[in-house]
Amino acid sequence: MELKAFMPGMILDELADAVGGYDNVSIENSDRATYGVDYFWVGRMWEDRGQVPPMPDWIVRPGSAQEVSKVLKIANYYKIPVHIWGGGSGSQGGALPMTGGILMDMKRMNHLIEIDEVSRTITAEAGMIFQQLEWYANEKGYSCQHIPSCLTCGTIGGALGHRGIGIMSTKYGKIDDQCISMEVVLPNGDIINTLPVPKHAAGPDLNQIFIGSEGTLGVITKATFKLYEQPEDRQFRAFLFPDMHSGYMAGRDIMQKVKPSILRFYDEAESSSIIKKILGFEQPGCFMNLAVEGFKKIVDIEMEIILECVKKWGGQDLGSDYGEKWFENRITFFYPGHIMDIPQMFGTMDTVATYANIEKIYLAMKKAVKEEFPFVRYISHSSHWYEWGCMNYTRFIVEPKDVPQDPEEARRLHNRIWNVGVRAAMENGGVINDHHGIGLKLSRLMKEQYGPAMQVMEALKKQLDPNGIMNPYKLGL
Ligand SMILES: Cc1cc2nc3c(=O)[nH]c(=O)nc-3n(C[C@H](O)[C@H](O)[C@H](O)COP(=O)(O)OP(=O)(O)OC[C@H]3O[C@@H](n4cnc5c(N)ncnc54)[C@H](O)[C@@H]3O)c2cc1C
Repeated sequence: MELKAFMPGMILDELADAVGGYDNVSIENSDRATYGVDYFWVGRMWEDRGQVPPMPDWIVRPGSAQEVSKVLKIANYYKIPVHIWGGGSGSQGGALPMTGGILMDMKRMNHLIEIDEVSRTITAEAGMIFQQLEWYANEKGYSCQHIPSCLTCGTIGGALGHRGIGIMSTKYGKIDDQCISMEVVLPNGDIINTLPVPKHAAGPDLNQIFIGSEGTLGVITKATFKLYEQPEDRQFRAFLFPDMHSGYMAGRDIMQKVKPSILRFYDEAESSSIIKKILGFEQPGCFMNLAVEGFKKIVDIEMEIILECVKKWGGQDLGSDYGEKWFENRITFFYPGHIMDIPQMFGTMDTVATYANIEKIYLAMKKAVKEEFPFVRYISHSSHWYEWGCMNYTRFIVEPKDVPQDPEEARRLHNRIWNVGVRAAMENGGVINDHHGIGLKLSRLMKEQYGPAMQVMEALKKQLDPNGIMNPYKLGL
């Protein structure tokens, strides 16, 4: 149904009334265009080639859960799609307003609500940039220990929406391990709270229904997270392994015995390019660095155990300097000059699997992509480890001379590379994403990943959002 004459204006007036006035809404083209690009390569290429980006029709900036609720009620009445925008730093096109409609920019909801020093928790509104939350925690001597490379540009809602992860994940967990409870506005406008504690036995944990739901099931408006004391001691160490097998096995051995806070393991191609460039490390092989932290006495013992594991798997101890240098440069890896950027084509095919499958997946993805697209450069590291497995942060890079200028052809090549890489991962027991989410980029592959299990998510979506207004075509929903 097309809206005619002054109808869009009528809806604008209603939205302005819902969110505290005209300062908090916009239909200006200059504002609409800023929401057409996140960190998804296709969206960025599209704009780079002078194409019109996906744009919302109305932008709203709610200041409370009540205002979010009013907007969703209006959207449901008119059956207008709603897209939630946190920091817009997502790499999967998750926040892009592909169908037009309302774009809800959450950043007005950026207030600290409470620090509970007895339970060691911190509660804030979901539009707050995570760095701000970390600063509030630091003021009291604590840390949230959610330190992703997007710390300064991603919001609380975005991290929960994509099930994000920080560099300290091996000790402190992913965002879903760190979140205690949430307030969510359902698509019909009802404001609900998950139970005050996670891991209860009062039925399924509602937190886990909304974490990773990418704005398709509701709007997260508030969340409570764990707080940690700053560690008494943090020790760094770097190692060199002769091949991927020995490094994977050493990492597994370490994770099944102790919990380092950081554990990163680079394949030879990334060790000899990015690691060489940033850390100045030149020897051939596969580079690993890690950190262990906590009380000094325990850290000393944990480091001893780690050194034994590394020796057992044939790793060379490089001492603490490279590990420290890595930590100093933890964000530099994403600075211009180090990170891939347009006019290159690139993508991070992050895949997570059990230890029994992860090496097989590394080899299978590389073979499949290189065979079909010989001009692709392929680098990989494993940045997040669990007791049962780890993820591969695998990147493909196409140099500008091999990237088609025609935007349709460029998009086609991009999606073909993804299909080949991701299918090779799935065929070998991999899950198509560890922490960046599905968004628009991988939406088409969700049914292949889940099979008949996809109906559970579809049923949830149908029940909670019968008009299908929330972030259409994302997450395979
Ligand atoms: C340089 C760089 C480094 C990065 N490093 C990391 C990293 O270390 N770890 C990591 O996990 N990711 C990383 N990312 C990816 C990305 O930044 C994260 O996924 C981030 O958490 C997204 O947050 P955002 O607020 O920008 O979300 P957006 O991009 O705005 O949105 C992401 C998704 O969440 C939904 N959403 C946003 N807010 C809400 C809400 N309040 N309620 C419900 N749904 C919501 C959106 O609709 C969308 O589907 C990186 C990205 C860049 C550009």
